Amino acid sequence: MSKDQPVLLVTGGSRGIGAAVARLGAQRGYAVAVNYVSDARAADSVVAAIRAGGGRAEAIQADCGKPAEIRRLFDETERRLGQVAALVNSAGRIGKASRFEDADIADVAATIDLNVTGLMAVTQEAIRRMSTRFGGGGGAIVNLSSAAATLGSSGEFVWYAASKAAIDIFTEGVAREVAADGIRVNAVQPGLILTDIHASAGAPERVERIAPNLPMQRAGTPEEVALPILWLLSDEASYTTGAILRVAAGR
Ligand code: NAP
Repeated sequence: MSKDQPVLLVTGGSRGIGAAVARLGAQRGYAVAVNYVSDARAADSVVAAIRAGGGRAEAIQADCGKPAEIRRLFDETERRLGQVAALVNSAGRIGKASRFEDADIADVAATIDLNVTGLMAVTQEAIRRMSTRFGGGGGAIVNLSSAAATLGSSGEFVWYAASKAAIDIFTEGVAREVAADGIRVNAVQPGLILTDIHASAGAPERVERIAPNLPMQRAGTPEEVALPILWLLSDEASYTTGAILRVAAGR
């Protein structure tokens, strides 16, 4: 593949929805930076699969919850692949499922730090590099919100739902701010998707419990979220910015 390929940076690209975005992005012609925080093996396997398919990809470790690491993430992506034209903010955490009065406030803070402040810091760095205002070539950004942003996740993780509602209004506001600078910013709100995140919340049985009650009566696959994300990144969505797209089986 050519060195002139557009570069896609996927935070949290090693597993789940981010990994599906990385794989599909490579199929659609992007050179892909697969960011991860701790699971190097998972990131390497996404990179290996992309390379086996003839694509370009690099695994890049950085904690997106630590703003100081984010400039390095972009510098390394540029050095190894080129200027970032597309960004998917998929890195996220949920915390341990519980009623709010029982939640560990340090776990709540870590969730806000990554899902809100971290996502904003990554987006800020992307804007500074993409914006035509600063001589950049423009770009497209998609943020991973959640159906939780409007459902509230009572009894499970209301702080996570609140972090996702923050992402929604951030997406709408910043999209308007950079609309004239060649950058589109959109978000998707996935519903119940088959990834490790439910087990991370200490509730691996969640999917089986909730799926039958959804209008479509099933959970979704990471690929079913990656497809609309790749559309939002593409020129087919050239007039779409500040949109929040529900991908949640009718919920
Ligand atoms: P997942 O399977 O748990 O994967 C999480 C990914 O984020 C991993 O690649 C992980 O890297 C990375 N990550 C975690 N902390 C990070 C940090 N501090 N810095 C950089 N990367 C970090 O999650 P998922 O289910 O795919 O979720 C992806 C996004 O979709 C999240 O924002 C989530 O809130 C949202 N979402 C998920 C669902 C769902 O049902 N799954 C529904 C709605 C929204 P390592 O591999 O190194 O740990």
